[in-house]
Amino acid sequence: MIDWNEQFAAATQNMRRNTVREFLKYAGRAGMISFGGGLPAAELFPMDEFQNASEAVLRKYGSRALQYGETEGVPELRENVAQRHGVGIENVLITSGAQQALDLLGRVLIDRGDVVAVENPTYLALLSSWRVHEPEFTAVEPEDIGGDKGALKRAELFYLVPNFQNPKGTTLTLETREKVAEFASTEEMAVIEDDPYGALRYEREALPSIFELAGKCGGPVVSVGTFSKILAPGLRVGWVIANKALIEKLVQAKQSADLHTSTLNQYLACELAMSGLLTTHVPKLCLEYGRRRAAMLAALEEFMPGEVTWSRPAGGMFLLVRMPEVISGAEVAREALEENVLVVPGDDFHIVGGRNTLRLNFSNCAPDSIRRGIQTLGKIVGRFLNEESKYRVSFSSV
Ligand code: PMP
Repeated sequence: MIDWNEQFAAATQNMRRNTVREFLKYAGRAGMISFGGGLPAAELFPMDEFQNASEAVLRKYGSRALQYGETEGVPELRENVAQRHGVGIENVLITSGAQQALDLLGRVLIDRGDVVAVENPTYLALLSSWRVHEPEFTAVEPEDIGGDKGALKRAELFYLVPNFQNPKGTTLTLETREKVAEFASTEEMAVIEDDPYGALRYEREALPSIFELAGKCGGPVVSVGTFSKILAPGLRVGWVIANKALIEKLVQAKQSADLHTSTLNQYLACELAMSGLLTTHVPKLCLEYGRRRAAMLAALEEFMPGEVTWSRPAGGMFLLVRMPEVISGAEVAREALEENVLVVPGDDFHIVGGRNTLRLNFSNCAPDSIRRGIQTLGKIVGRFLNEESKYRVSFSSV
């Protein structure tokens, strides 16, 4: 019998299952409180609007909605995205989610050994996707982005999530954005600005994107976006906005990946976006997710031992909990699973360090479940800390 493990290409050695997806297997277990995945709240999906839009799309576009389409995307949706970002339609490529946009960018921009700068921690599935091309990842602290030119000087490419970053939930200041825009322009370093969460803001004013600050498609910044968090991730519709030369290369790469993104889903996204739904739906999401974020922050304050710290995101879906160095996030996550609370260890999101961190999602659970889940998690972390201090006492008394 054929042994498939013997057949795999060498590049597959850099592929592994992403831990978030591994943990997500348990999300559906009865009674599970999930802070695990980046799941939007299913009860907030605009079901009626989707139903009406599905009928409208078939009526309006007929068989075109079911036919093969152009790789660039259906013109109506490209136009909609272009208008919302103040760019030309020729600068927009529709992709199967932002994830495909990132994957295609990795394929066309990264050679083996290229230095790729990322925040530490950064989006896990970006690391998995780009690792296949064997770059040298280097960690850049957001606060040092202007000043830490040593690390950046060598970088060919810089990937960042400026708004409510996954997994930290942090947001780059205007000053940092301006510095990145300026540095990238003078050093001719490509920047990938991935912004799935920007519209989900619960406090303070929105800041300009690095893409805008650096001169849109004439500059070194590529903008990546998605309907996943503001409409529904099951649509699998995202986009890249870039200079025409880069779009052309991405189109070539996409042709071999999947020919084009689902025509039907693109028309659906377009119909919903053109109906003005986003202007009413996104504020509803912000109101509810804002409540959930507040519930999680309050519960952390109430139940976490004093040695534990966490980020305070102004939007998005995640925050990062940091425990004392001696505690392993993976062990806490395993123990939490036993008590029906799903959390993701922060380790794999990091280029360096992060073993003692946990990523918590707050968009997927109602506030009362959030409180119960954090209470359980607080007890577990407390137990680990107690055991650790017992060990320390007995060790020092030897
Ligand atoms: N970028 C980041 C930072 C994300 O968190 C995600 C989804 N979790 C994606 C990209 C991919 O989004 P999509 O569903 O559009 O593929």
